[in-house]
Amino acid sequence: MGLVTLADCRWCAPARPDEIDLGIRIFAGQVSDAYFARRSFVRGYAVVVWRGRHVVEPMDLTIDEASRFHCETLIVARAIRDCFRPPKMNYLTMGNIEPHLHTHVTARYPGDPGDGGPLPAGEPPLLDETRFRRDAAAVRALL
Ligand SMILES: [Zn+2]
Repeated sequence: MGLVTLADCRWCAPARPDEIDLGIRIFAGQVSDAYFARRSFVRGYAVVVWRGRHVVEPMDLTIDEASRFHCETLIVARAIRDCFRPPKMNYLTMGNIEPHLHTHVTARYPGDPGDGGPLPAGEPPLLDETRFRRDAAAVRALL
């Protein structure tokens, strides 16, 4: 695992840009930012990033922080669902490569690359730029 130190943590940097390599920010909550990903196996994938102090594990949040983070994650998930109408949503909190609390919120469809299980672990394909921006804007409009 490529664990980083706090000094290297990009999520703890003071800047909160609207667009980064990961994608476009579609939501700025009280405790999180959500980025619509420009690489994805499916239509409708965002990463919700905790924006408080450096925290790796969700169990290190206070009850109030955990509640807020979870609620904001669900707000983003609801917008993705309402936008793309997938039959199922997945929530994945790992942080093995980038150990700052974040949750992957992913739409799931029958016949998608992880049909019946998790999506593949490799790097997802880069989305068509026009479609990526249009989809990000559509989800952001619901938030
Ligand atoms: Zn951090």
